[in-house]
Amino acid sequence: MSDVVARLQETRDAIARAARDFGRKLEAVTLIAVSKTKPAEMIVPVLGAGQIDFGENYVQEAKEKWPALRERFPNSRLHMIGPLQSNKARDAVALFDVIQSLDRESLAKELAREIERAGKAPELIVQVNTGAEPQKGGVLPGEADAFLELCRSRYSLTIAGLMCIPPAEDPPSPHFALLGKIAKRNGLAILSMGMSADYEAAIQLGATHVRVGSAIFGARG
Ligand SMILES: *Cc1c(COP(=O)(O)O)cnc(C)c1O
Repeated sequence: MSDVVARLQETRDAIARAARDFGRKLEAVTLIAVSKTKPAEMIVPVLGAGQIDFGENYVQEAKEKWPALRERFPNSRLHMIGPLQSNKARDAVALFDVIQSLDRESLAKELAREIERAGKAPELIVQVNTGAEPQKGGVLPGEADAFLELCRSRYSLTIAGLMCIPPAEDPPSPHFALLGKIAKRNGLAILSMGMSADYEAAIQLGATHVRVGSAIFGARG
């Protein structure tokens, strides 16, 4: 068995343990394998092992890697988890099943336009900058409710949930709890939170999607 498939299985086992320990249903937690910067040769065995959901951060990279992979594995689901420039909205709507980095009005406007044009809508998730870090994408926690309302009322966008990336230097759990609170009061079911270092804590706090890269594919160069 290849290294990546072994690490995929270890990750699946750890998710199952966390779900059991924290009283969560295993079916309620989706593993997204984050394959950014990794070549197709490394992704194929993971697809072959039955992994469905994958995350990518760059539109251009996804455009180069995924059309051929999807032809071989038509069930796969591709999530955009990186910052998205408004001028890439058309490509993103064409390529991705889920866009997790919706975080500003200009992007909501472009996505609404491109969804209308394409006649198909990816699932949309709003990113929240729970640590209010200036260099990071996401709406501020205090502005999340108003942004969600704006997406719905002005742009007729259906928002499925929320995503966050806690500051690297903070304990992640308060950020996960905050994201859960914002989702709950807005009636949103999806909570995309938790990465290689902290997905168990995220599962404890209600994650429905964990985004795991290096624990499966190894460190990025
Ligand atoms: C890269 C990335 C991940 C995966 O990070 P790992 O620490 O390698 O698991 C998850 N989410 C986002 C938004 C990322 O950019």
